[in-house]
Amino acid sequence: MMKKIPIAIARGDGIGPEIMDAVLAILFASKANIDIHEVEIGEKVYLRGESCGIEPKTWDIIRKTKAFLKAPITTPQGGGFKSLNVTVRTVLGLFANIRPCVAYNPFVKTKHPNMDLVVIRENEEDLYTGIEYRQSQDTVHALKIISRPGSEKIIRYAFEFAKAQNRKKVTCFSKDNILKLTDGLFHKIFDEIAKEYPEIENEHWIVDIGAAKLADTPEVFDVIVMPNLYGDILSDVAAQIAGSVGLAGSANIGPTLAMFEAIHGSAPRRAGQNLANPSGLLLAAVMMLAHIGEPKLAETIHNAWLKTLEDGIHTYDIYKEGISREKVGTKEFAEAVIQRLNQKPKELKPVHYRSMSFDKIVQASKMKRQKKELVGVDVFIDSEHTLDLLKDKLEKDLSPLSLSSISNRGVTAWPNPMPETFFIDNWRARFVNKIKGKPITSQDILDLLKKITDRGLEFVHTESLFNFDGKPGYNLAQNE
Ligand code: NAD
Repeated sequence: MMKKIPIAIARGDGIGPEIMDAVLAILFASKANIDIHEVEIGEKVYLRGESCGIEPKTWDIIRKTKAFLKAPITTPQGGGFKSLNVTVRTVLGLFANIRPCVAYNPFVKTKHPNMDLVVIRENEEDLYTGIEYRQSQDTVHALKIISRPGSEKIIRYAFEFAKAQNRKKVTCFSKDNILKLTDGLFHKIFDEIAKEYPEIENEHWIVDIGAAKLADTPEVFDVIVMPNLYGDILSDVAAQIAGSVGLAGSANIGPTLAMFEAIHGSAPRRAGQNLANPSGLLLAAVMMLAHIGEPKLAETIHNAWLKTLEDGIHTYDIYKEGISREKVGTKEFAEAVIQRLNQKPKELKPVHYRSMSFDKIVQASKMKRQKKELVGVDVFIDSEHTLDLLKDKLEKDLSPLSLSSISNRGVTAWPNPMPETFFIDNWRARFVNKIKGKPITSQDILDLLKKITDRGLEFVHTESLFNFDGKPGYNLAQNE
């Protein structure tokens, strides 16, 4: 007998335990070669005082397994609780979030009968690093972090996924017309990596019009790769317009571990009534089987599930008079899938799974190091002074530096202020060397900050300005 593959599972909260039982019943009936290690996460753990909903000892259990199948959890109301999902994804390095969004026309009502796409969302970076600060009475800000290795990993993953799953096109969504450095880097790396896959079509859409196209004509997309925030929002849109968020599963893949879950929440009002649809978690478990090297079993279960849908055996959330044949509960739905193991759907397209090994493709390439020169500093100042007074205080005797501009919320305030521009109490003063183009030192910045403080101003944040191989690593203010 082959050694069993260790899997961690968490039953979660709300409808979690009953949909997990249904999924495990199907996995065992199909003779999945897995060894279950149960862990506790979610509401009870939060309420025991763990701010992320997971106990430190749980990481070790998960780490010893090949994959983690996680039912939805309830995040308790009230402040101070951190997202368990974001914690699991980032702590375990699960950089890729994969969400297939498929229409099951005519068995599940949808406006987009031909939709069959996969959203691949970057999981570790962007605004989800959650680095936020309050800097003044009126201002809070967040850091959007996009890195070259982070973008390379997810974009290469998207192309490898497309190749392995025989998909024809990879589309990138970004907002690089506005976010020239962050989204600009993501787009640039997409263009670089796309060249390595000439057999796969590639295209880029600005995320706003791309999102509109996705909502209107999703059938033109195949694989879409996105930074974290756009991916979070648009993968829900895609799942919903396919028919129901209750039917979608997702995979979170890292170099050594992976986590699989339904995309819906714990639906507390439906809990304990044998009502919930286990399909989202089941399709997550199917992806898990393909990932751990059991593609045949993944295929058998997925096809049995499609046949169950096609036979009109539906839970309440997708039940429709005239389309459905029988309204069933969670357990009965699982039994119907078990009865159909080894059957294939006749009208819906049967699935075919191939195993994927991800270990090789997650290494980011080494880039040639560029010459980095310190050429200035942006100093953010919390001040209710008028612009004129602020300028007077910042302009004089700063040698070797000089004030080159003042901006407010990214709009130039000086020189050339516009009378209509609205200002708040958070100013950005930019200082560069008086001798144009000559680099400065860290000591110059420290001396400058001392002078600013001595003049009664409060700096709340600084950003050093660097050139890389002579090219600015910062952008200009609007209208600068
Ligand atoms: P939800 O997804 O739980 O419910 C939204 C709607 O969809 C409800 O009407 C619900 O009854 C229905 N629904 C969801 N899953 C269903 C299923 N499998 N079968 C039938 N109907 C289903 O979203 P919510 O109400 O916003 O959140 C409830 C709780 O879930 C919150 O505590 C939230 O923090 C948590 N949540 C957890 C996860 C996760 O663990 N991955 C994800 C989202 C929300």
